[in-house]
Amino acid sequence: MKTAPISEELFQRAKNFIPGGVNSPVRAFRAVGGNPRFIKSAKGAYLFDEDGNRYMEFINSWGPMILGHAAEIVQEAVMQAIPNSLSFGAPTRKEIEIAELIISMVPSIEKVRMVNSGTEATMSAIRVARGYTGRDKMIKFEGCYHGHGDSFLIAAGSGAITLGVPDSPGVTKGVANDTLTAPYNNLQAVQTLVDANKDQVAAIILEPVAGNMGLVLPTQEFLQGLRDLCTKEGIVLIFDEVMTGFRLAPGGAQELFGVTPDMTTLGKIIGGGMPVGAYGGKKEIMDCVAPAGPVYQAGTLSGNPIAMSAGMAMLNYLKDNPQVYTQLNETTERMISGMRNNMQQLGLNYTINQVGSMFTIFFTDQPVYDFDSAKTSDTALFGRYFNEMLQRGIYLAPSQYESLFVSTVITPELVDEYIKANFEALKAIQG
Ligand code: PMP
Repeated sequence: MKTAPISEELFQRAKNFIPGGVNSPVRAFRAVGGNPRFIKSAKGAYLFDEDGNRYMEFINSWGPMILGHAAEIVQEAVMQAIPNSLSFGAPTRKEIEIAELIISMVPSIEKVRMVNSGTEATMSAIRVARGYTGRDKMIKFEGCYHGHGDSFLIAAGSGAITLGVPDSPGVTKGVANDTLTAPYNNLQAVQTLVDANKDQVAAIILEPVAGNMGLVLPTQEFLQGLRDLCTKEGIVLIFDEVMTGFRLAPGGAQELFGVTPDMTTLGKIIGGGMPVGAYGGKKEIMDCVAPAGPVYQAGTLSGNPIAMSAGMAMLNYLKDNPQVYTQLNETTERMISGMRNNMQQLGLNYTINQVGSMFTIFFTDQPVYDFDSAKTSDTALFGRYFNEMLQRGIYLAPSQYESLFVSTVITPELVDEYIKANFEALKAIQG
């Protein structure tokens, strides 16, 4: 039994000083019950909490730790950069190098601007799309999450669904009116919105593989259909690849599916775990951004030298070692096949969605292809499963509506351990 009295005490103390005791809502374990673990350190595949418990983990800082925690190449790059000061607020050589690297890996990006989070990246991308087109409205998809910018907190996924606030209070009616929403994978619904708002839609933004309502795959026709519609209607197509960029392929989901957006937003991975985001795309669109053009966007810490160093180390490694992606796929497929075997033995039929190193087990026997089908999941059952896994030393995302991420440090032995825990946990939650 993994008890965590110190984490419990810290949580009580945190609640006095920090809203809900956490600096980002899903961390509070609201959806799964119990007490969040306060993490002291992490190395490789493992998190260590303040109570001295060890957990094999599949959150990986919500994506970026593709090489596992405290990867030497990233740590060393950071150590080397630190003595030169932590921030200048002036241009550096490293910013050019990382821009060149990103552009070489994601061909649809011709120019890129670094920011400090995925939220900043999407907020900025939408502003630029509006400035470029001279239009106000945008279309997003139910259950997709694009950070906490006002325009995106409409039918939002991730923690917003988990906490039951997909439409956040505090977002004005004016802003909300400019956000149109459609079900994921439903091209006809998008066509209807575009027809009803002729020449008013600046952008369509989506997660090209959705990870924030649990993992939901797009159909090829859906992505290609959006591409064709945007081209025809002069709408900027934005792929939010904050989770999928550099994870599903060196060039992200757009490489995997062979569909090219006009703009791309990135985050997390390009900082190797440091707070970073970026947005980029076609030259003529990006040249609208100040000081090249009139659309204003800025950041004191943007292009921060420590973050750029960590990101460069991570991206260079991924570029030079494409076998990482084969390895990640193989590891994940081994995990999925083990889980399917377990379910067969137990007479269960839950839905598993997977692509590359991202996956979700949905506690439903229905196929999951959009937000409504994701909501057929039994979230209470998920909560019990989560806690059974935690007790067996496996740390999953504390909500049904998240994707899990596999890293390169998950060895075949760890896969076996995971599959065994999965069997026991699935068995324990029946009846
Ligand atoms: N877009 C997507 C697709 C995301 O998954 C996230 C965060 N999980 C964001 C944007 C927001 O990024 P951040 O939390 O860094 O602001």
